[in-house]
Amino acid sequence: MATTETYHISHMLTILSKIIKTDNLEEIFAILQDNCEVSAMTIYETNGEISAIKKSFQKELPINQSPSYDLKINGVTFGKIIYETKTSNREFLKLISEIIADKIKNYEFKQIISQQISALQEGILQQDNDKRIKNNFFASVTHELRTPLNSIIGYSELLMQGFGGDLSEKQREYLLDIQTSGLNLLNMINDILDFSKISAENSYLNVSEFDIEKLFFEVTNTIKPLLKKKNLKLKTSIENYTLNADYRKTYQILINLLSNAIKFSPNSDVIELYSLYSDKKRIIVVKDNGIGIPKRSQRQIFKEYTQGANNKLKENSTGLGLAIVKKFCNLHGWKIKLESEENKGSTFIIKLD
Ligand code: ADP
Repeated sequence: MATTETYHISHMLTILSKIIKTDNLEEIFAILQDNCEVSAMTIYETNGEISAIKKSFQKELPINQSPSYDLKINGVTFGKIIYETKTSNREFLKLISEIIADKIKNYEFKQIISQQISALQEGILQQDNDKRIKNNFFASVTHELRTPLNSIIGYSELLMQGFGGDLSEKQREYLLDIQTSGLNLLNMINDILDFSKISAENSYLNVSEFDIEKLFFEVTNTIKPLLKKKNLKLKTSIENYTLNADYRKTYQILINLLSNAIKFSPNSDVIELYSLYSDKKRIIVVKDNGIGIPKRSQRQIFKEYTQGANNKLKENSTGLGLAIVKKFCNLHGWKIKLESEENKGSTFIIKLD
């Protein structure tokens, strides 16, 4: 099966688990069992243990039988699903989308908003606890915003793939606008959420083992619409190696660096993402040929709420992106180096060893 189809099914399952707010495999199993025409299904925990098998068939589909689909929350795989079905993958995707659409309909926005308003009122009343409440408030608001936003991005991606029928040029153009605005907004929300978590000192590493190749595949898939919007070319070259790291934070580091590279490059330019592995040293590089960063600003830009004097693109900016990159690198014990010259471009080098 095409890798992109596997990716889309995993992606939709991720959205589903986010919407029903569960990493409970039995619950996901029950929903899929009730709504999708599967004839046999096995769900595994990440440690390889079976969590659920469709009882009537009493048959275990082996984990090494491809394809299996990852179930993820915040980039971390918490389970795998293997299923047998007479329906095509496309049909299966449609069924999952329908479940998601149904769940979204019941999504209690009003309740969420009123909860946030009371949290804010509480914050106003308790000035002395101001900082803690502000952080909690930001964390919960941004978290609630991410779920519907993920569905918007997921759905526009499906439409773009032609799952809703053929598209005219104009429709493609509008969809690309929805995708790019959605992604930019999601990046900003993720930055605020990560930053409030960091400030609240709630930050820890959720370490798992993954290949740099898989990480690059997912990161490049995410930023595709942003590249397309500016007609940019992304050159990737991978020397594959395994990482023991926090997948979501590593993913966020690359998304932040790449979205800056995109933001500060002229249209139709080239951006590079590559990994190197030599002398037991592992490196990741994000390079652009854009406007560059003056020497005097190079230290400052890693501080929170700092935007370079060259940044005229305030609408997609929080000034937190690089502060988060730096903090996430520090948490892992990685070094980040910047080489940049005005009007020539910037290169961010992450040294993992
Ligand atoms: P934001 O992009 O939200 O303003 P960041 O922390 O990601 O915040 O970046 C801080 C500043 O660093 C940016 O405002 C910009 O001036 C500068 N910067 C970051 N990456 C690049 C890049 N690739 N090229 C040029 N300038 C950059």
